[in-house]
Amino acid sequence: MSREYLFHPPGAETSAKPKFDAETEEEHSHEKWIENLRERVIAIYPELEDIDLSVLFLDPKNHEQDIRGSHMVPDSEETHGINIDMGGELQLKLAKAKRPVSVEIAAKLIGIAPEHLTSEVFNTFVFLHEYGHAHDFVTHYQNAEESKSLSTNQIADIWRNEYTQYRSKLPIPNMGTSELIETLSKQSLLEFLKTRPVTSARLKTANLKTAQEVINAQDAAYRSMPAEKYADEFAASFIKKHLPEIVEDTEKSR
Ligand SMILES: [Zn+2]
Repeated sequence: MSREYLFHPPGAETSAKPKFDAETEEEHSHEKWIENLRERVIAIYPELEDIDLSVLFLDPKNHEQDIRGSHMVPDSEETHGINIDMGGELQLKLAKAKRPVSVEIAAKLIGIAPEHLTSEVFNTFVFLHEYGHAHDFVTHYQNAEESKSLSTNQIADIWRNEYTQYRSKLPIPNMGTSELIETLSKQSLLEFLKTRPVTSARLKTANLKTAQEVINAQDAAYRSMPAEKYADEFAASFIKKHLPEIVEDTEKSR
C-alpha cells in the first residue's frame, strides 16, 4: 500500500494543516518523522514555510519505484511545491541499481561510505535536496533585487530558461536522468540512438557503450548542473549539521 501525506501552506484552499490518514502505527511514526524533518528545515529557513509538500510512502515491497523527489516552481498554474516518494531498503537498493552515481554522490557529500547509506538517510537527503531547490528559487530568483518588478510567471520563466539551457548541454541533451532511465528501459540504446546521430557520435567519442554507462555519464553531468549542485550541497550541509537530531527522528520512526 502507498499512501500520501500532504502539507498545504497556510491559506491554501485544500487544508491549512498536514493531512493525516495514517492507519497503522508504522505509518503514524513515518508521518511524525516527516513532520519533524520539515519543522527542522522551517526553523532555520522560515522563508520555506509556504512550500507545498506532498510525500508518498512507497509500499516496502514495491519493486518498481525508487526513492525520488521533484520540485515545481510557482507560476499561475502551479503552487511552489515539492513531491517526494519515500521508501525502505528495497527502494534504496533500486535507486543504487538505477542511479549509482547519484547515490554515490549523496553518500560522498554526507561523508559516509555508500554501503553505510541507509534508506532513512537517503530519504532525508532526497527530501532536503528538494528543499534546496526551493531555497535556491526563493533566495536567488523570487526574492532577488532584479525580480522586484516581475510577476511570478516571469520569475518562473527565468528559472525554467536557465535550467533548460543547462539541460541542453547534457550528454543526452534535454533529458533528466530519470527520463533517460525510463526511456532506455523501453528501448535499446541502439534503437534510441538511431534517430540521434549527433549524440550517437559524441557517445562513441566518449567511449560510452552500454545503456548503464550512458545513464551514469548523464547522471554525473546532471548532478554537476548548478541548480542540482546547489540542492545537493544544501542537503549535505544540513545533514552534517543536524545528524544527531536526524538520527534520533529516524530511529523513532522505526
Ligand atoms: Zn534536483
